[in-house]
Amino acid sequence: MIPQVKNERYTDVGGKPQKQPQLPIKILMYHRVVKDLKLAHEFPLCIPSDEFRRHLDWIERWGFTPITFEDCRLYADHKLALPRKPIIITFDDGYLDTFDVAFPILQEYGMQAVIFILGDRSFRTNSWDEFGPKAYLLENHHVLEMSAAGMEIGAHSLTHVKLTDLSEHAAWEEISRSRILLEILLNKPVRTFSYPYGLVNASIKKMVREAGFTHACSVWSGPPSFGKDVFDLRRISILNTTTTSGLAFKVLAPLQYYNWLKWKTRIMIYGMPVQHPDAMEAYSYNVHSTHQHV
Ligand SMILES: [Zn+2]
Repeated sequence: MIPQVKNERYTDVGGKPQKQPQLPIKILMYHRVVKDLKLAHEFPLCIPSDEFRRHLDWIERWGFTPITFEDCRLYADHKLALPRKPIIITFDDGYLDTFDVAFPILQEYGMQAVIFILGDRSFRTNSWDEFGPKAYLLENHHVLEMSAAGMEIGAHSLTHVKLTDLSEHAAWEEISRSRILLEILLNKPVRTFSYPYGLVNASIKKMVREAGFTHACSVWSGPPSFGKDVFDLRRISILNTTTTSGLAFKVLAPLQYYNWLKWKTRIMIYGMPVQHPDAMEAYSYNVHSTHQHV
């Protein structure tokens, strides 16, 4: 039986939150899963493949079922019942090791994930990243194979820029063209977006909605519960230091409420920032301590 949805979806935009049924769904944010332990030791966004396997093992043992944003859309339209304990696994940037290393492990566990890639398919490496290790990106045939295997492909802008720094025209190009180009590649709708560097403001959110997306992921911002603002979906950052118990803590504890309060308090003290203070903090942390980019 398809469960009844209590909350109505809101359709108006602007700075207002865009609502969908509020569900206790947590979203995990991965970047790279690597076999090279030296790389995993040095760079916070590189998760060792064995650790990733342990994460999936934990997700399975605790009865969580990875779903996609497409599943959420179908649920909101009363076309799909969600599993008892849904969770969403996301990968940003579309590194080649998402296909070579993470994808086979996901398939072993029969799990779905959402992979955010650039609309400009001419990028061969993460050339936008001044600090992280150079890494190859997915080619089109990798993307098509993963899409055919049930992974959801989302857009991560055209060229991995800070959207909040751009003119309205340039930001619109980055957002709307990324969707069109990926839809042409995949020959299916692309409706989920991920903000590069997690940077978003009210006008960027509005553009993402007007470009036809229905969900967008941030990192540090957004309300604590899923569905309260589907264009500012807070995610749980998974780092190379995230062990299974760390993952358990991040998923099971109501950490998002603490982070949300911290974020709100900072806005009250410092005013609405052009860039999120947490993002700034992450930059300085990355630049000074680890030479890693987000
Ligand atoms: Zn990114």
